[in-house]
Amino acid sequence: MRLLVVEDDPLIADGLVRTLRSGGHAVDHAADGATADRALAQYPYDLVVLDLGLPAMDGMEVLRRARARGSATPVLVLTARDALDDRVAGLDAGADDYLPKPFDLPELEARVRALLRRREGLGTNRLILGNLVIDLGGHSAFHGAARIDLSSREFGVLETLARRAGRVVSKEQILEAMTGWGEDVGVNAVEVYVHRLRRKIEPAGVNIRTVRGLGYLLEKGAAP
Ligand code: CA
Repeated sequence: MRLLVVEDDPLIADGLVRTLRSGGHAVDHAADGATADRALAQYPYDLVVLDLGLPAMDGMEVLRRARARGSATPVLVLTARDALDDRVAGLDAGADDYLPKPFDLPELEARVRALLRRREGLGTNRLILGNLVIDLGGHSAFHGAARIDLSSREFGVLETLARRAGRVVSKEQILEAMTGWGEDVGVNAVEVYVHRLRRKIEPAGVNIRTVRGLGYLLEKGAAP
């Protein structure tokens, strides 16, 4: 497993990296938020241990950006003890678990093992946005356990938007992706597919917002 430790305190970082490496993992270390953000955009990590108070970009922002890119990598957030607001905000921003500082390394190892086990059960080729799970390998999407009935073109539009979740995607970019599959359609067809897709995924709390003159933006709705 390849893990990323994001921690600016050199002593804590050293302990984390040593412990996780001795557990047989490949471990990268980022000492600030901007470095972590770049690393997360570049590598498909299996798990991230994320401190919240960081130079360059705080941990919460690193987490939000990773989730906006569609990353489903498990994230274990390190918070100050009794910082209840941090924990709630961290979980809301997409953290999978948290550990208050100071912590014992054996407890950290146990949390990491639990998150990695959970991830094994989930498979890897998935994008998770709120209650919407997109199985990229199986070309299917699920609202919880229920499969959403999508045509192959609708799925293609969904994948194009979901891979850039939180960012505006132009009709031309969607059209380009569709043309890439040997489809010969016009810009008006994109509007039709987006319209139909929107109705189908809205029950899962995921909205496709029209950004006038620019295109569409897939936004994750509030978690229930
Ligand atoms: Ca810190």
